[in-house]
Amino acid sequence: MVTKPDLKGEAMADLESIKAQLEERLQFLNDKVDEIEGDLREPANPDFAEQATEAEADEVLEGLESSALLEISQINAALNRIEEGTYGDCATCGEPVGEKRLEVIPYAAQCISCASKTA
Ligand SMILES: [Zn+2]
Repeated sequence: MVTKPDLKGEAMADLESIKAQLEERLQFLNDKVDEIEGDLREPANPDFAEQATEAEADEVLEGLESSALLEISQINAALNRIEEGTYGDCATCGEPVGEKRLEVIPYAAQCISCASKTA
């Protein structure tokens, strides 16, 4: 079961909604990756000109897939942090990541100053 972090009731309710939000996003991304995988596995068009267009489209799809996969791993890591009760703490310096930042990037693992140092 979930280890409840040592937070006020209100913050815990927030955490539940963040978790639901992350899980929903994870589901969406997994579906998207499946879809992309399906598209990439389609047999090549026998028409040479079409093949070139498809190769270009495949490159775009692969880019989309790798960014989706990256986000999936970040979301999984954030869900783990929720389970462990460390969600919202910077993975590098341990300071709070900040509500504003988490609103924008709910899976942010680092506070803005650490993130800008490692970027
Ligand atoms: Zn930090």
